[in-house]
Amino acid sequence: MKQTGDLNLVKKINKSIVLHYIRNHSPISRARIAELTGLTKATVSSLVNELLESSLAHEIGTGKSSGGRKPVMLLFNRTAGYALGIDLGVHYIRAVLTDLNGVSVEEYKVQHDNAKVELAIAELKACIREMIRRAPESVYGIIGIGIGIPGISDGLGQVLFAPNLGWANVPLQQIIEDEFGIAVVIDNEANAGAVGEKEFGAGRDADNLVYISVGIGIGSGIIIKGELYRGSSGFSGELGHMSIQHDGGTCRCGNAGCWELYASENALYESARALLLGDKAGRKMEMETLLSLAEDGHEGVIKLFAQVGHFLGVGVVNIINGFNPERIIIGGRLAEAAKWLRPSMLQSMEGRSLPYPRERLQVEFSQLGSRSAVLGACSFAISKFFVSTKVSVE
Ligand SMILES: [Zn+2]
Repeated sequence: MKQTGDLNLVKKINKSIVLHYIRNHSPISRARIAELTGLTKATVSSLVNELLESSLAHEIGTGKSSGGRKPVMLLFNRTAGYALGIDLGVHYIRAVLTDLNGVSVEEYKVQHDNAKVELAIAELKACIREMIRRAPESVYGIIGIGIGIPGISDGLGQVLFAPNLGWANVPLQQIIEDEFGIAVVIDNEANAGAVGEKEFGAGRDADNLVYISVGIGIGSGIIIKGELYRGSSGFSGELGHMSIQHDGGTCRCGNAGCWELYASENALYESARALLLGDKAGRKMEMETLLSLAEDGHEGVIKLFAQVGHFLGVGVVNIINGFNPERIIIGGRLAEAAKWLRPSMLQSMEGRSLPYPRERLQVEFSQLGSRSAVLGACSFAISKFFVSTKVSVE
């Protein structure tokens, strides 16, 4: 960003403040914006005119007046552009297109077998191309692409390590930006899920929340005082690798007795294989199969869910005691089994956690289901668009 002078910078900041009020408080009048921001009416008027010209706001009818001429109200133009969110799973790619308020307009999901990095990237590009084709006409088109990945990335959009995907050091942001010429944000899928739940789901009114994504492994996104907590170098949230059994099995991370060895989808399938097939390896196990067996009253499977729920609760206790969040949201694939996991999870949680940190805590299963990460990814793209100097503060 090139600054030509302080006055210019002040104008840019003021304009993004005005846009913020239009986005979050519309319909709103110019006079009310002036009142709330402390800016003069003339300044607000001139900035609003620029926003009208750039199609980010539009005017509607009239609002309530305290006497005199009725004010024209301003609305945020949420269809000025669309955000594309992607949840890159180990065996699927889920894509959602939202307007600038994060309201979904198109959804798409494809399976991929993840045989090779190049093939998975080709699938990803095909999926993005399809969503671009489906996007409604708009002033700005696709304003950004957010991609949630099952692993860790650096601040430069490189996937450093995604063990379940089998990726290391893949410059994903660069690859996708070069292909489509659209701004791309890469983040961990659990971080995306936490933001998705905070913006659109079970975390909407919570400022301190921990989102736990329970799939093949366990990841988590931590929001403190309304902001995603990334740790000192961006690698926070690996709660799946806290030990809940000091002398437990060896984890692929090098630690022993990690939480995800006991409370993940993988842990569930491994025990289910032993129970139903008599072997611990090989045969594929599906969540749908286990859920329908539980529904049919299969005692062994019901017990298995209860056992995983218990281990889930043991880890949750550590989070309650350590973070004192107001909300813990369990998401990811395993949340589909909420009905079977909840009783034993709550039992170990209530029996073991410290009473004071638990007092005002709510533990919930995700409301967005498997869509929390993809909606969070859209939210990342929208945030980047609005802080980008091109639009909000030029
Ligand atoms: Zn581990």
